[in-house]
Amino acid sequence: MRQREAVHCNLIGDQWVGGAPTPNVNPSDWADEIGLYAHADASQLGAAVAAARAAFETWSVSSPQTRFDVLDRAGTLILERRDTLGQLLAREEGKILAEATAEVVRAGMVLKFFAGEAVRMAGDRMDSVRQGVDVEVTREPVGVIAIITPWNFPIAIPAWKLGPALAFGNTVVFKPAELTPGCAHALVSILREAGLPTGVVNLVMGRGSVLGDALLDSPDIDGVSFTGSVPTGRRIAARCAQATKRVQCEMGGKNPMVVLDDADMNVAIAACINGAFFSTGQRCTASSRLIVTKGVHERFIKAMSERVASLKVGSALDPATEIGPVVDQKQFESNLDYLDLAHNEGAKIVGGQKVKQATEGWFLSPALLLDTTPSMRVNREEIFGPIASVIRVADYEEAVAVANDTEFGLSAGICTTSLRHARDFKRRARAGMVMVNLPTAGVDYHAPFGGRRASSFGPREQGSYAREFYTIVKTCYTG
Ligand code: NAP
Repeated sequence: MRQREAVHCNLIGDQWVGGAPTPNVNPSDWADEIGLYAHADASQLGAAVAAARAAFETWSVSSPQTRFDVLDRAGTLILERRDTLGQLLAREEGKILAEATAEVVRAGMVLKFFAGEAVRMAGDRMDSVRQGVDVEVTREPVGVIAIITPWNFPIAIPAWKLGPALAFGNTVVFKPAELTPGCAHALVSILREAGLPTGVVNLVMGRGSVLGDALLDSPDIDGVSFTGSVPTGRRIAARCAQATKRVQCEMGGKNPMVVLDDADMNVAIAACINGAFFSTGQRCTASSRLIVTKGVHERFIKAMSERVASLKVGSALDPATEIGPVVDQKQFESNLDYLDLAHNEGAKIVGGQKVKQATEGWFLSPALLLDTTPSMRVNREEIFGPIASVIRVADYEEAVAVANDTEFGLSAGICTTSLRHARDFKRRARAGMVMVNLPTAGVDYHAPFGGRRASSFGPREQGSYAREFYTIVKTCYTG
């Protein structure tokens, strides 16, 4: 199997197949073209699904040791190549080098975790209510899984979907985000290098609007694991329901971080800066609503404003940079529109300026929106950029009410030194994940990940919970 040099190709069965060459451009430096990536067409997509279906026959009954070995080896290769993969990630997505490398490490650890899950897949045995009958509950792979991923975690999210899909014996057609094909291509290449058999993972690159429907509607696709925006996720979930396909959607957030009067201010500022602005705020778990009780509000906004102004915006590849560029022009303009909206809604804006650098890129300084109220659109819609608003509240009860006043429910945080408030918030926060004295973003690779309401649909991702999506239970009776 030879890979072409000039254009990074799609992987269909054992062939690297060309398509419409599309440039992948560095958001820190528009003059830097990372490479050309081939967009697949509908017939290539069909061939990829057919290859995955054919490979399912053998991969689904392969030894757990085989699956362990491939995933463990792939994890090792990723960890060994963390620096070059981190550079690639920073260059194509704009995450700063430290964050990009940490994401790569996470992808490696995820694959190693799921290597272990392959050999841990166990069923149940029950006593029957009937004499002389045995009841066994076994788990089987689902079949061919379509994996559709966003650009903001271009190696970790594919790894945490591919890992369990493969560990439990499924085969895959993987469509990464059009903006970040480089990490997807590298990940699939590493899986092949680690010994993944032909057809078990197929990579089709291109736009979701072009490839999506054909992928979702294929009768040979048994399940769809999607991460991305709410509108796309709802559309995918509806389409899968119509075709009775298994579906899992991880979507957006409007995550609250509550800061109480009794909070340790250093802890609170660190959690809010990290949660709101790291990764340029382009995280589904970003703390976009900072809900602060009145006793500490003035001190909080003064300290936050100073810290926000000191954050160094620049090229993702410069080790001194703290905030990298926004991912592309569309996202950049959307952020500017939200800043205009915030101004028109009466917010006071700290930061939020276009930043000039030595290279041309999508540089925007982080913005803190002050004097905002819960009903403003900037407090209701996911912005997905380096923009966070502050909402002043009277007390803890109002803070909880405002925190829960959202259609989303992914992550929710609280900074407090009160055990009573921390315990109460963990119970009452309407979110899939709750953080106490920690940023709303940043989770472990072995713990379940996901949200509620508009943020998530279907079973949880990651950790041992991932098997609920990637396996099907079978109950067998023997008399
Ligand atoms: P997006 O626009 O919904 O795209 C996500 C993926 O879906 C991309 O691969 C996209 O393809 C594809 N897609 C678009 N239209 C499609 C269609 N009609 N059928 C099938 N696939 C289609 O989201 P994004 O802008 O990439 O990512 C940002 C969003 O992801 C934010 O809302 C963020 O909160 C969310 N997110 C959620 C989580 C979580 O775990 N909850 C994690 C990370 C991000 P192309 O873009 O290539 O055209």
